[in-house]
Amino acid sequence: MAARFFKTSIVFTGLLLAGFVFANVHSAMAAAIPVAKNARLGGGAENTRLVVELDKPVSFNVFTLANPNRIIIDLPEINFQLPPGAGIRGRGLVRAFRYGLFSAGKSRMVIDAAGPVQVAKSFILPAGGGKPVRLVLDLVRTSQKAFEEHTAIVAARRKAARLQAKRALTALRGSSVPLPRVKPMRTIAGLGQNKGKPVIVIDPGHGGVDPGASGKRGSREKHLVLAYAKTLGAQLKSTGRYKVHLTRSSDVFIRLRDRVRIATSKNADLFISIHADSIRKGNIRGATIYTLSEKSSDKEAAALAAKENRADIIAGVDLEDAPDELAGIFIDLAQREAKNESIKFAKTAVGFMQRKVLLNRNPHRYAGFRVLKSPNFPSVLIELGYLSSRKDEAMLNSPRWRSKSASAVVQSVNRYFSKRLANR
Ligand code: ZN
Repeated sequence: MAARFFKTSIVFTGLLLAGFVFANVHSAMAAAIPVAKNARLGGGAENTRLVVELDKPVSFNVFTLANPNRIIIDLPEINFQLPPGAGIRGRGLVRAFRYGLFSAGKSRMVIDAAGPVQVAKSFILPAGGGKPVRLVLDLVRTSQKAFEEHTAIVAARRKAARLQAKRALTALRGSSVPLPRVKPMRTIAGLGQNKGKPVIVIDPGHGGVDPGASGKRGSREKHLVLAYAKTLGAQLKSTGRYKVHLTRSSDVFIRLRDRVRIATSKNADLFISIHADSIRKGNIRGATIYTLSEKSSDKEAAALAAKENRADIIAGVDLEDAPDELAGIFIDLAQREAKNESIKFAKTAVGFMQRKVLLNRNPHRYAGFRVLKSPNFPSVLIELGYLSSRKDEAMLNSPRWRSKSASAVVQSVNRYFSKRLANR
């Protein structure tokens, strides 16, 4: 009880330090999740206003991030019921905005700025005059230098607040500052170390504040890949041969490295990330299976990896450190082995999938996707098709296609593991 109270007060202090605005503490604590019904932009290239209509007041926190210039609004969990397509087209100082669940109990709006901006005002307008509660954000044009300076100051303040909270927590636990631990590596050669059933981790890409690609008819990648992952998961489970986990089973944002962490914590024997691509030009169609390589197999593959690796930027997360150098050497060795296993699985999957679904003309490719970098298990990333193609978009929305395509992946998994077990 005491610990709980203490944690709460630390978080509270952290929030204050981070400059949280408690517009209405009482209503923020109410049980029902606030609903956002509409969001609109007004004004022009010098002054732009964003108005979000809500059914009750909420607490919120606004800050900016550079490279590219973004404005982040952190909110409690919000039930977004905005009209379809909201945020795709911008106005004035806003190029576009995205919204969604960021983590449990927290929602976020990410605004792509059309240039350097300053948040002149941000406030909650109470309901009145027939209008609902509104969250208002007033943006004004500023210089890139001023934008970056202000962003750096706020980032430093946020970091200090985080550090203070961390130190207080460490003190609470009665331990000194925890040292980083290098986890013992599972050897890929001894695959099937999990006693019993192989563990398959399916990773539906994107989610929450990061919608991924969108189709001509408004389909969002994050929803399509989740539906696919659920179908695939159910089919794999029904064989009775595997333990199956999904990195997400709802519309929530997960950082790229956390996806890999989840798979590691589940002792994955195989990691399958699910995505759907979109290209500007041409009418390319079909599925592609990617395995890791620092060198991309072609320009298109490189561009795609760069795009998918931007998920954390899209959601407004600051990227954290790479692994330390010593660990890096071991990781390299294990990664090589994991890579060979990944290629085996990808080739098997191409074989089974080409009998059932349309594949890209060059169906197995290599690229530097961040989610494929685990040394602990083989991993592949399947781009199911192209949302830029009307035909592929319709296909991806079809439960029948999903089921047929997933069954080919299940066959591939069966073949891959029966071979792997036989070779032990
Ligand atoms: Zn994607």
